[in-house]
Amino acid sequence: MATLKAVRGARDLLPPETELWNRIEATARRVFARYNFGEIRTPIFEDTALFARSVGEDTDIVSKEMYTWEDRARAQSEKAQSLTLRPENTAGVVRAYIEHKLGESGQLQKLYYIGPQFRRERPQKGRYRQFWQIGAEAIGPPSSGSESPLRDAEVLEMLATLLDELGIKDWTLELNSVGSAADRARYNDVLRAALAEVAPKMCVDCQRRAVTNPLRVLDCKVPGDQPIIETLPRIGESLGEDSKEHFAAVTEALDAAGVEYKLNSRLVRGLDYYTRTTFEFTHGGLGAQNALLGGGRYDGLSEALGGPRAPGIGFAMGLDRLVMTLQAAEQVVPQRAAMDSKCDAYIAPLGENLNAAALVLARELRRARLSVELGDGSFRLKKSFEAADKAARCIVILGEDELQSGILTVKEFATGKQTKVPRAELAGFLAGPGRE
Ligand code: AMP
Repeated sequence: MATLKAVRGARDLLPPETELWNRIEATARRVFARYNFGEIRTPIFEDTALFARSVGEDTDIVSKEMYTWEDRARAQSEKAQSLTLRPENTAGVVRAYIEHKLGESGQLQKLYYIGPQFRRERPQKGRYRQFWQIGAEAIGPPSSGSESPLRDAEVLEMLATLLDELGIKDWTLELNSVGSAADRARYNDVLRAALAEVAPKMCVDCQRRAVTNPLRVLDCKVPGDQPIIETLPRIGESLGEDSKEHFAAVTEALDAAGVEYKLNSRLVRGLDYYTRTTFEFTHGGLGAQNALLGGGRYDGLSEALGGPRAPGIGFAMGLDRLVMTLQAAEQVVPQRAAMDSKCDAYIAPLGENLNAAALVLARELRRARLSVELGDGSFRLKKSFEAADKAARCIVILGEDELQSGILTVKEFATGKQTKVPRAELAGFLAGPGRE
């Protein structure tokens, strides 16, 4: 019978690598809390219409990459519904913002999420069909200051801090403004006119985009198209005064905070809902899929979803890519994770009749907050020592004598030292020397 495997583009994450994932998530939570962001968890599947209306019908994500199914009605009172595994999380957060009337408090809502997303992309290194994102959104009614360029700068400064605290070096922040909805519409016309002449010389996708969504042409990665793209008009020339001022205030605040960035007038980002500030953090160590994270402002998204006016700014970072970057930069990380994951003690019962007593001892120690691996009385002593050396810092021998006398023998692997310890003092002993 053929063995079953994880589906293409989806993968298992195993220890000790998962420790690195946890470490990254814990660091993100810590940093977000310092900036007063609270966690939001939205469903993994949503009504398909949510993504069509927010991400945009014409984007690759919606037109080709979504996992969508018809959820049949199970009762007469239920209607069949088209559902989709979320390809990103901003749409879900804004839907929740509208649904729970979060704007009515008048406060800026600062929300972060950590979770899996799903896109049917061609899998390759750093690109998966189930991948993980850590993201955050600052959204609220205009009176909450949600439109202020200071918010953009604060979010970018927070990201610089987060990457620093994660130990990710040599990132580049690329920054652009795609202007207001009106600026974008104007630029789309300018671009469409410019593309009318050159599009026939471009790739098939660009030929289609030149008509349906000219802005997307700037995202094209086909090498042959790059010289043509270089000659196209830049969005900066189509920005209105308001957008220019907003962007200047963002860069000024970043300069003051000492956050370095590079202006990239071609950065328009893959989703339709972005307005004004857009950004991407890249890392040279990642290869072809070099984007660590991306984000921007989405001032009209809430209204596009039928909600109140609620400007916002957010980002999503690829957790898979953070892990790859850290692993590449610091070869020792997996080994160190393995070291850290060694238990405080390994309990070796000397005979199967001592298994139950060993479980009781393990329970005592674990309740004292120690990490314990439990051996088995069917093991020979040599095998117990080998297993213990791999799993724990110390071995605790539990034979008939030890059980009766209440004096246990502990051997510490790092020093080879053997000590007799009364059972009542065992937890304290194991928590002491030999522990970091
Ligand atoms: P996006 O939602 O497309 O702006 O993506 C935000 C970030 O998520 C990117 O910068 C990547 O780090 C990550 N990402 C997006 N798509 C994938 C994928 N298929 N596999 C792994 N990471 C991804």
